[in-house]
Amino acid sequence: MTLRLFNTLTGQIEPLEPGDGKALRMYACGPTVYDYGHIGNFRTFLQIDILRRFLKLTGTDVRHVMNITDVDDKIIRNAGEAGVPIGEYTERYIGAFFEDLDALRVERPEQIPRATEHIPQMVALAERLAAVGAAYQTEDGSWYFRLKSFPEYGKLSKKDFSGMEDGARVDVDEYEKDSARDFALWKAVKPGETSWETAIGRGRPGWHLECSAMSMEYLGESFDLHCGGEDLMFPHHENEIAQSESVTHKTFARHWMHVRFLLVDGRKMSKSEGNFYTLRDLLLKGYKASAIRLALVSVPYGNQQNFTFDSLVDATKAIERLRTFRERLTAGKFLAGENPVIQEAAKNARVKFIEALSNDLNTAEARAPIFELARTANTAMDEEEFFAGDREAILPVLGDFDAVFDVLEDRDAEPTRRALAWAEKEGRLGDVAPELLAAQSLSDERIEALVAERSAAKKARNFARADQIRNELAEKGVVLEDSKDGVKWKRK
Ligand code: AMP
Ligand code: ZN
Repeated sequence: MTLRLFNTLTGQIEPLEPGDGKALRMYACGPTVYDYGHIGNFRTFLQIDILRRFLKLTGTDVRHVMNITDVDDKIIRNAGEAGVPIGEYTERYIGAFFEDLDALRVERPEQIPRATEHIPQMVALAERLAAVGAAYQTEDGSWYFRLKSFPEYGKLSKKDFSGMEDGARVDVDEYEKDSARDFALWKAVKPGETSWETAIGRGRPGWHLECSAMSMEYLGESFDLHCGGEDLMFPHHENEIAQSESVTHKTFARHWMHVRFLLVDGRKMSKSEGNFYTLRDLLLKGYKASAIRLALVSVPYGNQQNFTFDSLVDATKAIERLRTFRERLTAGKFLAGENPVIQEAAKNARVKFIEALSNDLNTAEARAPIFELARTANTAMDEEEFFAGDREAILPVLGDFDAVFDVLEDRDAEPTRRALAWAEKEGRLGDVAPELLAAQSLSDERIEALVAERSAAKKARNFARADQIRNELAEKGVVLEDSKDGVKWKRK
């Protein structure tokens, strides 16, 4: 089934298919690595992950490029304040970004170019712009894009710039003015700033030029899809279109996807508002990476989402329910045969799941039939009306669900462990939830020993001691599950 996705450029929901009939060529604006990302940033990367996973599930190959902006105003400012070269400054945040993506199980794009490694391509694009009269140099040696040369400016964000002032300039990377200005393509070197010696002078690229040059380098002058958060629509994406189409005279990206904001009390989560949480903040509070993933993708990308801790609690419970259900399915012993009601329910759940995602990636509607199927099947098992053939019908449906949502395998211990090690290194153990600290104070070996002691106590019919051990472990966030194959334990 073809994915139908809202296209910001046309304002309509349209089929998204590879233009070359082979692989979908998509570019996603990546992080600016001046600090740790917050979960608003990760909402955008997670929703794009849902998109790429759904395309793959439905048989479309993807060629996904995501850049790393490792030079911009903020990076230069922060590295300067820290007194280190920008490369050294950004390395640490690039590492943290990938660690966070791994924790959230975001698949890696096929290519991840860094801005500082593509200066020649940016310079070449600026030269082409100058050659067609769309770029000019100012007295200080900087280069600007001449907005007047591109009458279509505003076609993505649907802003009308017809009355714009010719020659008014802006040299910062981010601005929110409604009246557009000529924007900096290349910024002449300033004392103490990182710069490159190039054919267009000594200086550094503007943010917008970076993305035009890198997307066209890896995907060609015209490609299928360009994505990013809604704040990038103007000016960043509008500027990318202007820079690229002025020289190629081709449609830069056919389809544009913008992920709506994660909000806190109705306001955009952002560094500057100070109303943000990083992934690490939440892991240290004891929330699991899988729950954070599910919570941030459960509201469809086209709607803004208000962040609440309740949503993390709900996601934790939802995951627990599905994991328990899958465990019951795989470990249970069922008689041969099929229950036609369950067979039908499994088939319907899969159809609804695929339909909901095909319809502009409606993740909320896609989740619902899977939980419903679990409910129906659980009831059938309770009533002993569930058969081996029903398990075979349901497992692939759960498999499809997890190919996109990826929360069923319990791999939550590792991200939490890493976050704790990080907190220790950064002197932030004070931010760790007491229960989490207590659980970590018990080594795996110590837990195994207590579990063995409890089993021995039970065998000896010393139930008081067995209960005492169970409670002790529970206080330290370790839960026990008695099963036919012995006792399993996990950290909560
Ligand atoms: P940055 O590292 O600031 O360039 O942002 C990385 C990505 O996160 C961009 O696609 C932004 O549009 C996106 N973004 C920033 N804030 C939010 C938010 N509150 N909710 C969703 N996406 C956001
Ligand atoms: Zn970009």
